[in-house]
Amino acid sequence: MKTAITVHMADRVKNLPPYLFERIDKLKREALKRGADLIDLSIGDPDIPTPEHIVKALQGAAQNPAHHRYPSYEGMLSFRKAVADWYSRRFQVNIKPENEVLSLIGSKEGIGHIPLAFVNPGDVVLCPSPGYPVYSVGTLFAGGFPYFMPLRAENDFKPDFTQIPEEIYKRAKLMFLNYPNNPTSACASREFFGDAIDIAYKYNIIICHDAAYSEIYYDGNKPLSFLEVDGAKDVGIEFHSLSKTYNMTGWRVGFAVGNKDVIFGLGKIKTNLDSGVFQAIQEAAICALETDDSVLCGIRDTYQSRRDALYDGLSSIGLTANKPDATFYLWSIVPEGFTSETFSAYLLEKAAVMATPGNGFGDSAEGYIRFALTVPVARIKEAVERIKKIL
Ligand SMILES: *Cc1c(COP(=O)(O)O)cnc(C)c1O
Repeated sequence: MKTAITVHMADRVKNLPPYLFERIDKLKREALKRGADLIDLSIGDPDIPTPEHIVKALQGAAQNPAHHRYPSYEGMLSFRKAVADWYSRRFQVNIKPENEVLSLIGSKEGIGHIPLAFVNPGDVVLCPSPGYPVYSVGTLFAGGFPYFMPLRAENDFKPDFTQIPEEIYKRAKLMFLNYPNNPTSACASREFFGDAIDIAYKYNIIICHDAAYSEIYYDGNKPLSFLEVDGAKDVGIEFHSLSKTYNMTGWRVGFAVGNKDVIFGLGKIKTNLDSGVFQAIQEAAICALETDDSVLCGIRDTYQSRRDALYDGLSSIGLTANKPDATFYLWSIVPEGFTSETFSAYLLEKAAVMATPGNGFGDSAEGYIRFALTVPVARIKEAVERIKKIL
């Protein structure tokens, strides 16, 4: 009788940081099991369907046999042109479709892979904390060392570049930034991006700006592209995603834009690991990028009424939160006597309301909790009523 071999995980898997949402996930499963009417404000995934014209474009393109073969690695030229046109319309930034754009299988894919192109074992990558976990995990997979830049309320959730030691800057190869920010919802100014670019020139650091939420904004406060700022294209690239803008998280399509050598390096990794984005999805993405702004205005209005309902509701019961100018998140301070985790567990057990404990995004976010605006206004109001009863 042969028995199965013993499967040993590689060190890079064994050494992954602990998964901090385990306890909350367990409480969620228990709540669902006892049939609780859960209001889930923890999900960073739009509940609104993809606009009809984009779905139709996929249906048409899927029938074209030319798209059934391997796609081009860097994305179809027509897709890269559509990206360049979108940049020019939206940000007045000039992008060369030939060598300054790369298609991605969702921006997470590009963010996770980019350290493989530029980080040697022991090199430093500057990562925001709190932040999207992929920045540091991609760094670890490449053998790099994530150095966490705390985002604090007193700095308007920007890293304080004066607090980073000189020797860290000297060892740093990449810096990740993300504005509008998940989870804090802070937005960046031209001055802030300018400061980051100065650091990048001085220490030869590649900046990777994650702009996943650039189109989810309120009251006409259009976020900046990193590439709008002088010098940006000398030092870095910007990641974009169709996921949040067009409610296309399931489609897996995004792109990177900017410095041609950085785009080339990321492309080099990708040509050796994947074979690009299904061309029918690229066709649908072209159609998405040409979407009339009135459609996006409708989506923004939906989130804005939810934001107002949640912000007003939480304020009326004494919970402190920011009123975001962008993203679909409210970043709220937990009441006295609670930690991020005990408060989210309390909301879940006593009110069947689920929110994400801030410390799951990094140690610097202890004391915060993130509410996502991915449920209808009526449910948000109901959630506030329930929270009111237990506070
Ligand atoms: C959702 C999200 C992404 C990933 O988007 P995909 O294109 O769907 O992979 C990237 N960065 C941040 C900060 C996000 O919240």
